[in-house]
Amino acid sequence: MKTAIVNIGKILTGDLANPVAAGDTIVMNGGTIVAVGNGGGGGGGGVNGGAGVNGSDVVIDAGGTMAMPGLIDSHVHIAFGDYTPRQKTVGFLESYVHGGVTACISASEVHVPGRPRDPAGVKALAIAAHKSFENLRPGGMRVHAGSVILEPGLTQVDFGEMAAAGVWLAKAGFGAFETPFDYAPLVAMARAHNMVTMVHTGGSSIPGSTGIWADHLLKIRPHVSYHVNGGPIAMPDADFPRLVNESDIAMQVCTAGNLRTTLLVARLLTEAKQLERLLIATDTPTGSGIMPLGLLYTMSHLASLAGVAPELTVAMAAGNNARVYRLNNGVIATGRDADVVLVDACSGGSQSDALSALRNGDILGIGAVVTAGMPRFVGRSRNTPEPIRRVRVAECTLPASFGAEH
Ligand SMILES: [Zn+2]
Repeated sequence: MKTAIVNIGKILTGDLANPVAAGDTIVMNGGTIVAVGNGGGGGGGGVNGGAGVNGSDVVIDAGGTMAMPGLIDSHVHIAFGDYTPRQKTVGFLESYVHGGVTACISASEVHVPGRPRDPAGVKALAIAAHKSFENLRPGGMRVHAGSVILEPGLTQVDFGEMAAAGVWLAKAGFGAFETPFDYAPLVAMARAHNMVTMVHTGGSSIPGSTGIWADHLLKIRPHVSYHVNGGPIAMPDADFPRLVNESDIAMQVCTAGNLRTTLLVARLLTEAKQLERLLIATDTPTGSGIMPLGLLYTMSHLASLAGVAPELTVAMAAGNNARVYRLNNGVIATGRDADVVLVDACSGGSQSDALSALRNGDILGIGAVVTAGMPRFVGRSRNTPEPIRRVRVAECTLPASFGAEH
């Protein structure tokens, strides 16, 4: 399937080092972005060649809205299927697609009712979750599931079996250990099997579990400090500069956390010139609820309150997550996965485009979401206010309207 988006106002790439690309057209084929450039006659961007707009199954007219990569929520509490036991709600992942989220990463399947705690059980749970979401894309979203909950008794052999079955995520924070320092050898084992490792940070989110602060993280050495701003309770302020200066751990800030320390993390990483370490996620569904627009809120908080350039907040919620989690989406460039979202300022507000809206502290109006090269809806999101500009299906050879008004 070939899909083209034309008449784009500005292309926000999601790449922190190069956050805006020239051009007004994106062409996708077979689930991959094959061209980014100028599609209109004589633009010289190279799109009109073999990989041009001609021959597309679907052409979306962006109407001057901006394009950004599909957002990656790197902290979502999935269980099985599109259902959250914590909030007893069906269809939440599909709802997140209407917030511009085209991929999510499991923060471990800890909410599965009666979840197992022994090595055989957590191993089976991770493998089953990983394999089941390989066959399921709720609303078109890609779910990276099967994040093994580190528990005492897991061995090198266990990690080898899990890795062979495709498990590549490991989560520390809910295990039955005496102290958080006891996670260190298990995180090292997971790393040895090429897994991406995450450690719960801050106060306990589960009754009886202990706080995890900088001393623990510096000893455990995960790839990612999960909700470094607190999930939902933050560690002491003095611990934040230690993580910035004494480690290269990625620092994930979550919507369902402490906003003041989110802004602190942004300031510290800006001063250290290491904004590539800042990852935006939601840490939902939890007791804080379901937040389909959570990433958009945290992006607007960083752009309006922490002085972060709005196009960089797109990168923090997309390309930065993709780099740390080794994913091929999250950036608009040829060869990357065809996950693209069209955004604008919301109608009825004071701002004129997506970037000024974020800077103003507003969320974005979403006009279309494409995942794996397939439009999932075109026109308006059911969860955001309406974009100012009109996004529409200009051409379509398929028996589908993608929810667009005609
Ligand atoms: Zn969490």
